[in-house]
Parts: sequence; C-alpha cells; structure tokens
Amino acid sequence: MATYKCFSCGKKLTSAQLQKRFLCPFCGSKIFYKPRKHLAKIKAV
Ligand SMILES: [Zn+2]
Repeated sequence: MATYKCFSCGKKLTSAQLQKRFLCPFCGSKIFYKPRKHLAKIKAV
C-alpha cells in the first residue's frame, strides 16, 4: 500500500484513505507527496 504525506500538515496518509476523498482528513489539503525512503543524492559532475 502506498503511503503519502500531506504537504500542508505532514500527516501520513494511506492510498486507501485517499481513495474515498482526495483530501487530507486532518487539514483538508489536497496536496500530497510521496515520501521516499532513500533520498537520491545528485552529484553535479
Ligand atoms: Zn493535512
């Protein structure tokens, strides 16, 4: 199951929670992002 983070309040949401309503149940925000476990480090060569 995919997890998302609310961009506004930072709470974790599951994709199941967002299937009903694409709204944050905590703050009503509609902007989410997928938190990544591994942060990609980009090196400018
Ligand atoms: Zn929120």
